[in-house]
Amino acid sequence: MSLDLDRHFEPAHGRSVCAAPGILRVTAANGGPFTFHGTNSYVVGEDAVAIVDPGPEDAAHLEALLSAVGGRRVEAILLTHTHRDHTALVPRLRAATGAPVLGARAFHAPQGEIVDGAPSLDAALDRGLVFDAELSDGWTARFGGLDICAIATPGHAADHVAFAVGGEGVLLSGDHVMAWSTSVVAPPDGSMQAYMASLDTLLARSDSLYLPGHGGPVRRPSAFVRGLRAHRRMREAAILERLSAGDRTLAQIVAAIYRGLDPNLVGAAGLSVLAHLSDLEARGRVLRRDPPGGPLSFEPA
Ligand SMILES: [Zn+2]
Repeated sequence: MSLDLDRHFEPAHGRSVCAAPGILRVTAANGGPFTFHGTNSYVVGEDAVAIVDPGPEDAAHLEALLSAVGGRRVEAILLTHTHRDHTALVPRLRAATGAPVLGARAFHAPQGEIVDGAPSLDAALDRGLVFDAELSDGWTARFGGLDICAIATPGHAADHVAFAVGGEGVLLSGDHVMAWSTSVVAPPDGSMQAYMASLDTLLARSDSLYLPGHGGPVRRPSAFVRGLRAHRRMREAAILERLSAGDRTLAQIVAAIYRGLDPNLVGAAGLSVLAHLSDLEARGRVLRRDPPGGPLSFEPA
């Protein structure tokens, strides 16, 4: 089963696009290998609104967001998770609108160890961000005539939530499920076990459209999420196969299963393999056996 990624996307930087009834999308111009064409912020509501994921610290993006709001009352700033590409604009947006900031309590893991020379993605976390109120799974509020409900979906980040708008139908899926790419799941804050369970959480729902934190919509969500699950299971099988063949370190496994990978992405691939190995270790399928002073090493259980 191949994963059907969709990279068609017209970001329309600087102006708002109607993404679904009552939902405007504004894409920031912070494109890059992990952000695609930039972070999507959403303005949700009719006569009053909530803003989901303010995005990066960028004056033009702030202006575009306020123009999408168009003088309506901003009742809340909601965060899918606290990666800086989603949160850096929070202080300026809070100052401009007076709206409270709501996110899930960041049960982030402590600063992680550097893995085989790979950069830790901890730098992406906005650890200093202060919330005005906490979101928890099932939290629901009404903004400008639309109900928004938080659904805990940890995995990409420990504090990740998705937002269902108007019951089951449209889901703001953050960085958990995106049409253009699989999600980065990088320990210690990211967890493969949590990510897979969060895919199952979404499969139990009947939403018809996902609006992700980067890139365009996911139009057939349940088939796509099943594809994501199958993709990770295939990768897990490939890792187990490499361990059986005698590979022990992340570098060996990455070299074998990501042939021809862009050297800039080797670190991220190593973290993804580590996420799988940690999950397999928790399930008793592999053992961690680091040689003294040597790199992280694993063997079949
Ligand atoms: Zn993220």
